[in-house]
Amino acid sequence: MGSTVHSDETLNSMHVFMVSFPGQGHVNPLLRLGKHLAYSGLFITLSAPESVGSKIRKANNIIDDEPVRLGRGMIQFEFFNDGWDINDPKRRDLDAYMAQLELVGREKLKWMIRKQDETGRPVSCLINNPFIPWVSDVAESLGIPSAMLWIQSCACFSTYYHYYHNLVSFPSENEPQLDVKLPFMPSLRYDEIPSFLHPRTSYPFLGRAILGQFKNLSKSFCILMDASQELEEGIIEYMEKLISTPIKTIGPLFKKERNIISSQSIRVDFIAAENCIEWLDSKPLKSVVYISFGSIVHLKQEQIDEIAFGLSGSEVSFLWVLRPPHVVPLGFLEEVGDKGKIVQWSPQEAVLAHPSISCFVTHCGWNSTMETVASGVPVVVFPQWGDQVTNAKFLVDVFRVGITMCRGEAEGRVIPRDEVERCLRVATSGPEAVRMMENAVKWKKAVEATVAEGGSSYKNMQNFVDEVVRIGIS
Ligand code: UDP
Repeated sequence: MGSTVHSDETLNSMHVFMVSFPGQGHVNPLLRLGKHLAYSGLFITLSAPESVGSKIRKANNIIDDEPVRLGRGMIQFEFFNDGWDINDPKRRDLDAYMAQLELVGREKLKWMIRKQDETGRPVSCLINNPFIPWVSDVAESLGIPSAMLWIQSCACFSTYYHYYHNLVSFPSENEPQLDVKLPFMPSLRYDEIPSFLHPRTSYPFLGRAILGQFKNLSKSFCILMDASQELEEGIIEYMEKLISTPIKTIGPLFKKERNIISSQSIRVDFIAAENCIEWLDSKPLKSVVYISFGSIVHLKQEQIDEIAFGLSGSEVSFLWVLRPPHVVPLGFLEEVGDKGKIVQWSPQEAVLAHPSISCFVTHCGWNSTMETVASGVPVVVFPQWGDQVTNAKFLVDVFRVGITMCRGEAEGRVIPRDEVERCLRVATSGPEAVRMMENAVKWKKAVEATVAEGGSSYKNMQNFVDEVVRIGIS
């Protein structure tokens, strides 16, 4: 894959420096993009705060920061100190942390770029992901072209864009239950828009951080999206016409990566993945429910208890990602025996690709959403906040690969065990399960085509590599 018209020497001299917000759901897609670009011949640096760097090194046995060869190019990590001690309790105040990261990050980034210059690897292009829009300011001040990797759906991108530019009506204090109508999308109920845009959100600073990206949109020479034309056809074309910055859909990045590079070779898990593949191997075809709520969602212990009772009541086999401080009810593990397995972190890509998986109870983070759609696995949606609620809407009503167990935090209730049990039964047996599986297979084929040679994501990725080379030598 990648550009064939450029020599290795030209490609290797192009240095793409990527900066990630320190979240698992941010670093994963950026690494996937980085791997792809390296594979095509570019030299890649992936940078993030040391607070996650230390976790990544430990969980993935990374012993040095030396560049690693990947395909025709190279990839290296460079973590930076964000000025706060790793265990500083202030880190839990995300609003304060965002300000600290920007304050220190702006200076650190300039310093790291100067250092690359001095070591003979001048940076030709910067790439950031949402929550750190200041990276494009730094790029502009240094005269380095920058691009942004949007790591949510194009539907969410459109929603934020329309909100930022005040193009349609959104829920307000006066009308908190207003539906939002956007082109090429089903009408979104007030609890289906990215929740940070709702006046009653508990996380207004996250809304501000994402909207900061829209303020800086014109500073990017292009917007890369971990999304695919096939999944969001009308929306992408509409947004391409609406905004002046070019959009390149290059997703699912996860799928591309699986096609071209062993996904196990370089990883950025914050927690070491436990081996559950042998256990899955021992289970019959499409018999195991996979349950994970991603890296940040924190459910009440009462909800965990209800899920546990729902699982034992439904009698399905399950693989459940569950970490302390959460615990399962007393006697639960004995009751389910070998029917269930609990891990603190799973190798999710491999789990979703495993033939024994029947469906995924998911919080609908965009990475999990793309990973499940690309793997052809139907879902039971259990979103909480942010874009999760919008992704859940699309999974159930647009892609028609899922059923709803929970509508999100705004629902303000604990989903009781009998509802959990009912959803699990509907998703794993009977006509609804068959319908969801048929649709899941259809979308899997569609995204396989998009990343295959000649597909839209494939071509867009090649165009991006060509563009990096063009701006790098001009
Ligand atoms: N993930 C994983 N193992 C787990 C849980 C999650 O590898 O046990 C990965 C998952 O494959 C995805 C990322 O962590 O790439 C989570 O991102 P997502 O956008 O789904 O959710 P977030 O954690 O950002 O809410």
